[in-house]
Amino acid sequence: MAETDARPSAAQPVIAIEGLTKSFGANQVLKGVDLSVGKGEVVAIIGPSGSGKTTLLRCINFLEEYDGGSIRIDGTEVGYRDGAGGRKRRNDRELAAIRVDAAMVFQQFNLFPHLTAAQNIMLGLMKSRGRSKAEARAIAEKWLARVGLAAKVDALPAQMSGGQQQRVGIARAVAMEPKVLLLDEITSALDPELVGEVLAVVQELASEGRTMILVTHEMAFAQEVADRVVFTDQGRIVIDAPPAQVFGEQPHERLRSFLSRFA
Ligand code: ADP
Repeated sequence: MAETDARPSAAQPVIAIEGLTKSFGANQVLKGVDLSVGKGEVVAIIGPSGSGKTTLLRCINFLEEYDGGSIRIDGTEVGYRDGAGGRKRRNDRELAAIRVDAAMVFQQFNLFPHLTAAQNIMLGLMKSRGRSKAEARAIAEKWLARVGLAAKVDALPAQMSGGQQQRVGIARAVAMEPKVLLLDEITSALDPELVGEVLAVVQELASEGRTMILVTHEMAFAQEVADRVVFTDQGRIVIDAPPAQVFGEQPHERLRSFLSRFA
């Protein structure tokens, strides 16, 4: 979206999702999801495997096209490829512009293996944010330093640990200055001793007031970093509440049974 877009008012959420539905064939994965995320809010999504958490994130930045309902990013409807029934029609160019506002970090890092850490970050800045090569390089260096990787600017992914690669993944996403950061189980592929260094970076970004939605199995981290915790089950949001409430009394049977696996 244009830089000149109006800033969201206090009343306008950065992410507003209403009645979102999504099926893969006969399998309805999202069954009417409503979720609103305010500026600077950190929302952790937890729930059993297969409950639609990743699909929800992928719909927000249009890696998956949703079937029904609406997703607005800073008031702008993401929309659909077809305009059937008066739905908001979007072409690929418009979708690409919307997508940079919702940058995603993936479980498997998804770095380009033939590009250095800096080049991985520079690519999107040049292609989607119109930065010159020199500007993009400076931004990449700044963000790599911020995530503790100043010495790895010219390293290839294969020359880095999983934790370092994931920190590059985070730097790549946040360098785009997205309106929302989407983090999809970003520590699940890491050896346990590397999880902490990645979560520390996320914690710091959260404390700067960046808007984030994170899917995680790290319950202690969700409790610490999130303003709200959303529990999904079978394609629906079952609970949306502050962490103290979600991890406290656990009044909900399905949540209690889910959390007992982490005890
Ligand atoms: P979660 O992140 O909560 O584990 P997902 O969103 O990954 O759940 O998956 C929800 C359901 O959607 C699962 O049943 C999964 O098999 C199915 N699914 C996800 N992506 C696809 C796809 N591209 N094609 C077909 N089915 C999919």
